[in-house]
Amino acid sequence: MVLVLQGHDFHFETENICRLFLPQEKILTVREVPDVVDGVLAVAAVEQRPDGAHIRCTLKLDDFFGEETATVAAGTPDFTAACELETAKALYRLFVRLFGIEQSWGVVTGVRPVKLLRSKIAAWGVEAATRWLTDVMLVSPAKVALSLRTWEAEDKLLQQTTPSSFSLYVSIPFCPTRCDYCSFVSHTTERSVKLIPTYLKLLCEELKVTAEVAKTLGLRLESVYFGGGTPTSLTAPQLQTLLSAVERHFDLSTVREYTVEAGRPDTVTADKLRVIREAGVDRVSINPQTLSDSVLQTIGRKHTAAQFFDAYELARKAGFPHINTDLIVGLPTDTAEGFTRTLDGILALQPENVTVHTLSMKRASNLVVRHLSDYSGGEQAAAMTAYADRMLTADGYHPYYLYRQARMVGNQENVGWSKDGHDGLYNVWIMDESQTILACGAGAATKLKDPYSPHVERIFNHKFPYEYNDRFAELIERKQGILDFYARYPLSKEASR
Ligand code: SF4
Repeated sequence: MVLVLQGHDFHFETENICRLFLPQEKILTVREVPDVVDGVLAVAAVEQRPDGAHIRCTLKLDDFFGEETATVAAGTPDFTAACELETAKALYRLFVRLFGIEQSWGVVTGVRPVKLLRSKIAAWGVEAATRWLTDVMLVSPAKVALSLRTWEAEDKLLQQTTPSSFSLYVSIPFCPTRCDYCSFVSHTTERSVKLIPTYLKLLCEELKVTAEVAKTLGLRLESVYFGGGTPTSLTAPQLQTLLSAVERHFDLSTVREYTVEAGRPDTVTADKLRVIREAGVDRVSINPQTLSDSVLQTIGRKHTAAQFFDAYELARKAGFPHINTDLIVGLPTDTAEGFTRTLDGILALQPENVTVHTLSMKRASNLVVRHLSDYSGGEQAAAMTAYADRMLTADGYHPYYLYRQARMVGNQENVGWSKDGHDGLYNVWIMDESQTILACGAGAATKLKDPYSPHVERIFNHKFPYEYNDRFAELIERKQGILDFYARYPLSKEASR
C-alpha cells in the first residue's frame, strides 16, 4: 500500500494503524501521491491554520473511497501529540469503513497497554483513565476490563520490588528441534551438541563474575529465571552443573521465585525434574500450546498432547508448587472448537498458571518464510481469547500480566493468568522494567534500572552460542558496564545494605 503524508511527519502512528489492518502489506510512505498506485492508497494531510490543525485523511481501494476529517484547536495541550493521535484515528475510522471490522485494542498500538493505563491512572485516577481508553483510544469494553484487572494484580507485585532488587536470567538457547512459528535465536541440540560443553563451562564463569558484581554493588536477588530456548534440552547432569553454579555463587536466601522453563514436553524427564526441584526451583512451565496433535504437527512442534500430559504429571509428582502451561490462539488449522477442547483439557488439570498467547507472525519464522500461515484467523483468534477470558475467570484465575507483539493474529494479546498467590513475579518485573535483570548466556540482555527513576539501559550478550564461546572475554569486559551504570545511578547507602 501507499501512505502519503502531507504537512506532518507522523509516520510512526499512521504506519502502525495501516499495519493493524494490513499486516502483510509492505507500506510505502511518501510525500506526494504517485501517478500509479496498485492497491490501497491512504493520504493523511494536516494543515496548520491560525485556529489550529485541520486534518483530512482519505482512503482508496478499487471502488471504495472514504474521507474523514478532524481538527485540533490551537492551544490544545501537547498539541503535536494530539495532532498525531487525531490523524491516526481518522485513518483508523477509514479502515474500519473499508473492512467493516473494529480492532479490539482500538488505536492502542504499543506493546504494553497496561503500562500506558498505569501512567494515565497516576495522572488522572482510575475512572478518567478507563474513560480515556474507551472514548479516546477506542479500546473495546472487554479489553478495558482486562487491562484494569491486570493493572490491579500487577500493581501489587510492582510494590514488592525495592531499589536494590534484581533478578537473574540464565539463557539456554538450545531446543531439540525448531518449531515453525518460532523466530527465537535457538539452536537445535542436534546441530549444536558440540558447542554445549564449552557453552556451559563459560556460562558458569559468567555466573561467577555476575555474582561478584552483584555482591560488590549490594544488590539483592529476588528471582531466578532459566529460559531459552528450552533449558530442559540439557541433560540432568548438565542442569545439575548449572544449578549448582547458581547456588554456589549467588546468595539465594532472598530469592522469592525460582523458575525453569521446561517448555517442550518432549525434553522433560523425571530425572531432570528431580534435579531441578532439589535445587530449590519452585516454578516450571510445561507448554503444550495446543492439545490437538494435528495442529502440533502443522506448527512443526515435535511432540504430542500425550507427551504433554505425561510431562505435566511428572512435574506434579516432583512436587512443584507452581506449574504454568502456555497456550497459543490463532494457530494455523486450529478452530474455535479445537481451542475450546484445549483450554477445557488444561483446566481439568488445574495448573496454577495458564499463559494464553496469540500467534505472532514473526518474519523469521518458518510459518511466514514458507507461507504456511496468514492472518486470516483474526475473528477466530478474538473468539478464542474471549473464551479464555470467560472460562479462566469462571475457574478462579485472574490476569496478572499482559503484553502485545507486532503482527499478532487478530491483533489480540498475550495474558498470564494465575490462581491467587501464584502470580509469576519475574514476568511482571521484566515486563514493566521495574527492576534490574542481570542476564547470562547467549542472546541474553541485561537490563539496568535506575533505582530511583524509570531510566533503563541495556547490555547485550552475543546472540549465538558459537559467538558466545568464541568471544567470551569481550563479553566479560562488557559486564564492567554494570558497575559503570551503578556509579552513575547509585543506590542509597540504606538500600544497598
Ligand atoms: S521450543 Fe520454544 S524456543 Fe524452542 S523452537 Fe519451539 S517455540 Fe522456539
